Amino acid sequence: MIIVMSMGATEEQATNVREQLRSYNLQAHDNYGTQRVVIAVLGDVAPVRDVLMGKLSVMPGVESVTPITRPYKLASRESHPEDTVIEVLGKRIGNGALTIMAGPCAIEGRDMMIETARSVAAAGATVLRGGAFKPRTSPYSFQGLGVEGLKYLAEASKETGLPTITEVMEPGQVEVVALHSDILQVGTRNMQNYSLLTAVGKAGRPVMLKRGYGATIEEWLMAAEYIVSSGNPNVILCERGIRTFETYTRNTLDLTAVPLLHHLTHLPVIVDPSHATGKRWLVKPMALAAVAAGADGIMVEVHPDPDMARSDGEQSLTFEQFSDMAHALFKIHEEVRTLIKDPFAMTGPVTVDGASKH
Ligand code: PEP
Ligand code: MN
Repeated sequence: MIIVMSMGATEEQATNVREQLRSYNLQAHDNYGTQRVVIAVLGDVAPVRDVLMGKLSVMPGVESVTPITRPYKLASRESHPEDTVIEVLGKRIGNGALTIMAGPCAIEGRDMMIETARSVAAAGATVLRGGAFKPRTSPYSFQGLGVEGLKYLAEASKETGLPTITEVMEPGQVEVVALHSDILQVGTRNMQNYSLLTAVGKAGRPVMLKRGYGATIEEWLMAAEYIVSSGNPNVILCERGIRTFETYTRNTLDLTAVPLLHHLTHLPVIVDPSHATGKRWLVKPMALAAVAAGADGIMVEVHPDPDMARSDGEQSLTFEQFSDMAHALFKIHEEVRTLIKDPFAMTGPVTVDGASKH
């Protein structure tokens, strides 16, 4: 249930609403918009819904009371109509800004990290990526440099002024990763690792949650709900392809997820065409398509010498390819940002609700 307070409502009137909820053993979660306060109700509302709605709707300062139909209460646009905008080191993610996250799949050493950082920063990247703890399918593959890699990433950030993102694989790593990196990444393999989601929810850093390669949109948003309900409203969603019967590409990029998520949630949406396609030459067209579909940004892998990369070389861009792609992205973004804000696209009825229709 959400309670929209009227524009002129006082703090005392909002407090009375919160107290009313508390008397029913429900919790209030406040969203302060620019114009008014929206209070989301958390807890088991069902048994008291009708009587509570009756009481709340006549309270002074209350404009409307509406049941939330989505199971992901805090992540839903119903509970938080305005886009979430995340600020990291002066860079804005969400609502009109174009975010370009770039860097190597794995941090292989200091020099390559700094060299890549300088190059992508000069070409217009807004966030630096680099994996220090790598989730590899084979135990024999390069597993990443761990804390040593985190230090190179932090040094590259100092050098370029760009915020950083890197993956955290288990709750025990959250503290050290949060110490060295500005954004924490939860990878596809861990999307439903609930103890990790709860831990990053308490880490005090923005989190980018990649879509599980077998996850529905609803399962993904429920995973985001774990992070937000643990106290962290700064969640970014990243579509990175899902597994289908197609094998020519590494995964199948589900671009429908972009406008659908903008409809269902207020959280920013990033697309990763590197892991989605697995092929270098497919990265640029799919990155352009993602921005054209309204994505808040993209994440791509870039390497000084992709053919020699210790992981994901096939899908990594050269510096020149990255620079060429970034240039094209700025153009597309400029063109599309006014066109995509079609109010009908955002408010039309959603008839398919993920897992519930299977
Ligand atoms: C990554 O971005 O480094 C990564 C491992 O991606 P994913 O979790 O999407 O496979
Ligand atoms: Mn990779």
